[in-house]
Amino acid sequence: MSRDVCVIGAGVVGLASAVNILEHIPDVRVTIIADKFSPNTTADGAAGVWMLYNLGNTPEYLQRRWAETTFHHLETLLKTEESSIAGVTALPMFGISDDPMKQEHWSKIVYGYKQVPTGEMVKLFPYAQRKFGTFHITLLCECRMYLPWLMRRFKERGGKLINERILEFQELTGRYDVIVNCTGVDARLLVADNSVQPIRGQLKRVTAPWIKHAVFDFTSQCYIIPCADNIVLGGTTQHGDWNKKPNEDDSEKILQNAHAIYPSLKNATIEHDWVGLRPGRPSVRLETEIRKVGGKEAKIVHNYGHGGSGITLHWGCAQDTTALVAELLGEKVNFRKQPPSKL
Ligand SMILES: Cc1cc2nc3c(=O)[nH]c(=O)nc-3n(C[C@H](O)[C@H](O)[C@H](O)COP(=O)(O)OP(=O)(O)OC[C@H]3O[C@@H](n4cnc5c(N)ncnc54)[C@H](O)[C@@H]3O)c2cc1C
Repeated sequence: MSRDVCVIGAGVVGLASAVNILEHIPDVRVTIIADKFSPNTTADGAAGVWMLYNLGNTPEYLQRRWAETTFHHLETLLKTEESSIAGVTALPMFGISDDPMKQEHWSKIVYGYKQVPTGEMVKLFPYAQRKFGTFHITLLCECRMYLPWLMRRFKERGGKLINERILEFQELTGRYDVIVNCTGVDARLLVADNSVQPIRGQLKRVTAPWIKHAVFDFTSQCYIIPCADNIVLGGTTQHGDWNKKPNEDDSEKILQNAHAIYPSLKNATIEHDWVGLRPGRPSVRLETEIRKVGGKEAKIVHNYGHGGSGITLHWGCAQDTTALVAELLGEKVNFRKQPPSKL
């Protein structure tokens, strides 16, 4: 039986799916077809914090399973000397808010999750004046480094690339046995899935090397995230907005919110603004569809709609995608069991 698989999409979701398929299904040939590659995908501009955000009604048990698999994959990478090339590092993070913060369902996956007493909050964040807070250590996966690293892994194992925009699945039937659809927000067009909506995110990169930990303010939706070369200040969460140009009002608001947490950021050097469109959907779509196109049968595995968490979920979703592709090819795959969550 022939085993030609194509993955549409070279973002973090598509690339991880392609690598997993290639590494786990015997004798398979994998081609990625995409009109954008790193450094022009959504994850290239994102900070890359392991954090669950904008996932609609995606069931919690699935969020947790995919996120935990991804955490362990990144944690494994962190223990190797490759981590500096792949852009993976540990990141201390505060969540702060005016409202009491409940224990998150993912709190046992990260390191040292705890509520911060109000007395300490006042000392740690004297300007923001938030009463409630949490602290934990999470992982940061900087995709402008991680995607080239994954791409090398894909090519070393014989993966092929085509730079092209696909207008209809019909272009691919007859050429590939299985089509994997990882088109992010553009799935709205290719699949005609009107439930996919952009969630516009504008952010700013600045130089401020004195900031050593991340802060996410749930009251203002402001975030401050130290990356390898600069700090990400965010952000916006604008549902249904397709505008990919940074705008002045958002930029000003981002600065104001960040200065309200750390006034020292007024001394930061501004690098640039960036906008990305999170692939919003009522729920992540990860399933098989057999579609009749142009009188032929297309076997499709969809993997899109990861909202503000594509980096956090990518490896777990890639493994489930691989299992579905294997099933369509009459195979079974076994992924090594992950270590249990920390207690
Ligand atoms: C401001 C901002 C901050 C974020 N921060 C984080 C964070 O800290 N942590 C986190 O986990 N997530 C974060 N995210 C979300 C994350 O970036 C996305 O969920 C993720 O990048 C989506 O990846 P994707 O591969 O599905 O889509 P994309 O990166 O958009 O890739 C889609 C791919 O499909 C291709 N494509 C689409 N249609 C076609 C077609 N018809 N033919 C050929 N190719 C096609 C494109 O060329 C591209 O290669 C953030 C997003 C934004 C905007």
